[in-house]
Amino acid sequence: MKKGKVYLVGAGPGDAGLITVRGAELLRIADCIVYDRLANPLLLRYAKPDAEVIEAGKRAGSHSYKQHEINELLIEKAMHGKAVVRLKGGDPCIFGRGAEEAMSLADANIEFELVPGITAAVGAAEYTGIMLTHRDYSSAVAFITGHEADDKQKSGIDWRTLARFGGTLVFYMGVGNLESIAKELMKNGMSDDMPSAVIADATLPSQRIVTAKLADIAQACMDENIEPPAILIIGRAAQPDQRLDWFVRKPLLGQGIVVTRDTEGNAELAEKISRQGGLAIEFAAIELKCLTDTSDFQRALKHIGNYDWVVFTSSNGVAVFFETIGKSGKDARIFRKARIAAIGSITASRLKDFGIRADFVPDIYTGKELGKQLARFEDLSKSKILLLRSAIASKELADKLKKTGAVVDDIAIYTTETSKGDAMHIAEAMRKGRINWLTFTSSSTVRGFFEQIEADIVKSSGLRIASIGPATSEQLKKLGLKVAVEANSHTADGLVDAMCKYKKAK
Ligand code: SAH
Repeated sequence: MKKGKVYLVGAGPGDAGLITVRGAELLRIADCIVYDRLANPLLLRYAKPDAEVIEAGKRAGSHSYKQHEINELLIEKAMHGKAVVRLKGGDPCIFGRGAEEAMSLADANIEFELVPGITAAVGAAEYTGIMLTHRDYSSAVAFITGHEADDKQKSGIDWRTLARFGGTLVFYMGVGNLESIAKELMKNGMSDDMPSAVIADATLPSQRIVTAKLADIAQACMDENIEPPAILIIGRAAQPDQRLDWFVRKPLLGQGIVVTRDTEGNAELAEKISRQGGLAIEFAAIELKCLTDTSDFQRALKHIGNYDWVVFTSSNGVAVFFETIGKSGKDARIFRKARIAAIGSITASRLKDFGIRADFVPDIYTGKELGKQLARFEDLSKSKILLLRSAIASKELADKLKKTGAVVDDIAIYTTETSKGDAMHIAEAMRKGRINWLTFTSSSTVRGFFEQIEADIVKSSGLRIASIGPATSEQLKKLGLKVAVEANSHTADGLVDAMCKYKKAK
């Protein structure tokens, strides 16, 4: 068997958008992804559906993989011919033990590549308006491990030199040792009022910063309950400049937002929310069930190239369709001359993932509009149309198309079922006031969510509800719930936009 290859990829400091283009590309092709506790799990949305995903984070207490076990795992997977991505927080080789992993691969004769990432120091500084270098007062930066600070025997840190360094000092892994780091530096001559900043969860919506003079930074972090991962920046540059503090101006900053979607669409909305500073809390309210085993579908599939139009009403339908035909070794060429229509930009962009540019996308994303607009687009009276949709979709689209005289084969290829989300966890977070928004992207997510969580908890918690469109809002109102915002354009972007505007209006 041909040996595989291992890619040691930097995931960036937290924000899922800070991975490199090369890193994202490799996640898309990986057969196996071994990821770190510090790597943002949202990045897993790039993974192929059948990729093997292994969490290798070294959590304190609860056992995860030991370093030598990770090395062995990477070798073993590559030996089996797999393309393996080892996804590590920040940069793989800045305090990331990437070098050890690369070394063990080299020893085992496994081919590997290193893909750099944005390290936490850089991410933390730039998301808080701190400049690590500055032409007036910092002409050098040092990255230091704060882990060794309390272990004098083993410590390779030369405190005397650091205290006189003159530039910016950045300590990784130092939250537990803030006091001893500060003491050592002051003992060796650093001024006790040197500006210091600790940034936790840097570049994430939960980012927090504590600033104080060196002598007070440890106490200030205790008062604020700062927990790892956090980074300590010391030096004259460690004073955030308010004019540069762009990240705190994000419209949804720090807001807890529940994303209730099926597994297919969760990650995209979650990512858009975090782009605006929100903290997406995923709740899988519905699960997809494939219905492509039916004789109706198999028959339609055989003659699919003879249809004039094949209509996809959701991105889920697209995913289920291509998964099904993929199993029998087929791809997009199966459509031959049939043209493709899609409801909504999400559906259209999912089609693009499979190499198809939709021939028709109505500008209003509902089934009814697609029917109306397609009939206006061309004479359908002699057309054969295949609808591939959810089993619980409304009949409006098929009815509209049939009225034009077209022959319509209306086939359900998937259905959605309530899945057991993490209801306890969400209900608890709501009670504690950690959630500001619930988002709903379809009436079935409303049903799925409220089958597991009582509407009364939501009513009494004072959180706001964002709905993607009229049908979803209707379903919410039936439960006696108030819809705070409804998206103008019925897409994930529209939904996020509506929440951002709400914040601004207040
Ligand atoms: N390879 C990583 C660092 C791994 S060491 C990188 O290049 O960033 C782990 C330490 O990194 C943590 O203890 C913390 O000091 C820092 N760190 C990683 N992610 C962080 C984040 N989002 N916010 C603050 N510090 C972070």
